Amino acid sequence: MLGCVIHGTGDLRVEELPVPRPGPGQALVAVRYGGVCGSDLHYWRHGGVGDFRLREPMVLGHEVVGTVTGYGVRASGPAPGTAVAVHPATPCGGCPECRAGRPNVCRDTRYLGSAARFPHVQGGFAAHVVVPAEQVRALPAGLEPRRAALAEPLSVALHAVRRAGDVRGRHVLVTGAGPIGCLVVAAAKAAGAARVTVTDLVPLALRYATAVGADTAVRADDPADPGWPAEVDVAVEASGVAAGLETCLRRVRRGGVVVQLGMLPPGESPFAGNLLVSREIELRGAFRFGAEFDEALPLLAGRPEFDTLISAVLPVAAAESAFALAADRGRSCKVLLDFTDGAAG
Ligand code: ZN
Repeated sequence: MLGCVIHGTGDLRVEELPVPRPGPGQALVAVRYGGVCGSDLHYWRHGGVGDFRLREPMVLGHEVVGTVTGYGVRASGPAPGTAVAVHPATPCGGCPECRAGRPNVCRDTRYLGSAARFPHVQGGFAAHVVVPAEQVRALPAGLEPRRAALAEPLSVALHAVRRAGDVRGRHVLVTGAGPIGCLVVAAAKAAGAARVTVTDLVPLALRYATAVGADTAVRADDPADPGWPAEVDVAVEASGVAAGLETCLRRVRRGGVVVQLGMLPPGESPFAGNLLVSREIELRGAFRFGAEFDEALPLLAGRPEFDTLISAVLPVAAAESAFALAADRGRSCKVLLDFTDGAAG
């Protein structure tokens, strides 16, 4: 079978890999689509993401949908042949964070296609993948696999909005209109936000955000843009650059909440810390997600406008072109890899 393996900075290879066999407690999934995420692009372009560095070849990918084809011993789940989405996280279940109901910050989690631990956890950009059986979810009625590929990034967005607290009736600012920022816009509206303003440097990105519910789209590099809000209740930083955080801290109201969701560059990032003090702003991190995955699937099922965010689907053999396209924000939003032709047999 074919899989996408990152060997180092700029060294992405589509390789022939052995088809895995499900062990005890595991499910085997024939992968249909894999969504290319910003973190996959970071491994490709920079050899790491945030403070996680690549130290050995790794199959990328954690946004995975397909069909469950079988189970190992002591494993059960949706009947073989069922279309499923894969929850990419395997928290340890025993650490203080897991026991406190925060499995997304588990100190010993395994996450598909992540170099956070060593040996790295191999990912799902392959024609078949083995995962713990409890991590496969049957797709709800009305949800096609293509749109279901957004379940993982939508879960990230839903978690970020949850971290912001109750946004009902609130004005929410989202800095960064990449796929995650667009999904934060949609998640905030789904959670009852009265108004969502989104900022980005790229006009196409702002159009995607508007398609999924942004009320106002602002050019981040234009201080004279009439869309700039004087003040917002909540800000979610989804660009992963220090300038975005600066915007959030300057635009949120006194006593407001800023959620840092975008992964900032490695090491230290400057920020306007005195604003935290003088305005009593609450700055919160948001990382991955937990149970939000089970909210994302039904939310996607009823919302065809999410299809707009899937700007291209390329076969696995064209993975490098797909990555280049996904990295070009002037030409794409979410890019999917199609693994159908990469399956053995
Ligand atoms: Zn844990």
